Amino acid sequence: MVIQPKVRGFICTNAHPQGCAVSVQEQIEYVQKQGNLGDGPKRVLVLGCSTGYGLASRIVSAYGYGAQTLGVCFEKPPSERKTATAGWYNTAAFHQKAADADLYAKTINGDAFSNEIKEEVITAIKADLGQVDMVIYSLASPRRTDPNTGEVYKSTLKPVGGTYTTKTYDTDKDLIHEVTLEPANDEEIFNTVKVMGGEDWEMWMSALADAGVLAQGCKTTSYTYIGKELTWPIYGQATIGKAKEDLDRAVKAINNKYADLNVQAYVSSLKAMVTQAASAIPVMPLYISLIYKVMKEEGTHENCIEQIFGLFTEKLLVADPETDEANRLRMDGKETNDATQAKIKALWDQVTQDNFHQLSDYAGYHQEFLRLFGFDFAGVDYDAEVEHQVQW
Ligand code: NAD
Repeated sequence: MVIQPKVRGFICTNAHPQGCAVSVQEQIEYVQKQGNLGDGPKRVLVLGCSTGYGLASRIVSAYGYGAQTLGVCFEKPPSERKTATAGWYNTAAFHQKAADADLYAKTINGDAFSNEIKEEVITAIKADLGQVDMVIYSLASPRRTDPNTGEVYKSTLKPVGGTYTTKTYDTDKDLIHEVTLEPANDEEIFNTVKVMGGEDWEMWMSALADAGVLAQGCKTTSYTYIGKELTWPIYGQATIGKAKEDLDRAVKAINNKYADLNVQAYVSSLKAMVTQAASAIPVMPLYISLIYKVMKEEGTHENCIEQIFGLFTEKLLVADPETDEANRLRMDGKETNDATQAKIKALWDQVTQDNFHQLSDYAGYHQEFLRLFGFDFAGVDYDAEVEHQVQW
């Protein structure tokens, strides 16, 4: 099949297996170039392992520390007429490269919120790894089925407390326009916390501890985005921010509950990044296009792999890491510092339909977006036939 990008709104509905393999390879090479990282986790469970920050976490674990990695993701396999999702191809490429490097890798594709997948993971840990010494929680999902009641909760991306009017960029129509976002009601806030809050992370830790597969001193982190004034109304202080606040509650609960195992749980705050999850959030494509411009000029631009590499080596895996007032690990300082934010704010105030492409790095944003799906990599012939029925 010849595979060219099919972009519909904020999503691309197909993916290119060779391009995804290049993306995985580039991330592996980034880690390999950093040299010997010393001691680190050797058996790592990554929940949400196939794209974005979770995939980067898997790559740093495997190629930075030689860890055996067990991953969970929710991806669509290829069919005769359709490509697989990007996360499927990324995982296939990761497996291939891990096998070449003699690194253990196993991935379970299914709903991580379910009891069945938790059981399947525990069985795999018992059979192959014995225990795990790190658990990365990097799920991003618009819905969650409560495994005990069967009820389906859907998250919403809405402000909390009042209506919010702001600029946004419609990537489909290449249009800067104002949006007015209506505030969420209590039920919508509750549902978003159910999906993206800490409950499922706690359920994972509880299932793993009860099964005796958490190693003494196991580290675990989930990821958050805190941002600053420009994004607070739609992220930090909005429905998704309420869900992320719930992670701070979960950290305390996990640390207390598994103190005998000396489990060390953290919320890690990362920078805004073009990922499948972030492109769906109103305002984010405009904001990210502007931060790309500013941070590339400052020489501080980073992708998922650089962020996660920094997180592991400077914070998560060091003894007594520096934390913020809420005990979080912060990797977002290059984005959220006052000087950088002031530059972004100045651009934000000036940006109009006419000057958007000059003031922003939308070209960079768009390229990163296409690359999420394996497109726009030099060296891949997108006019050539390629085998899309890739398995792992
Ligand atoms: P992503 O969309 O790239 O990855 C999500 C992962 O979750 C994929 O591996 C997907 O297969 C998996 N997944 C989704 N639903 C699942 C399910 N039901 N069962 C099993 N796997 C499932 O997302 P991302 O942007 O890398 O986000 C990961 C985490 O990082 C999220 O908590 C997000 O809030 C946080 N974060 C993102 C940003 C950003 O700008 N992208 C910034 C800071 C923090």
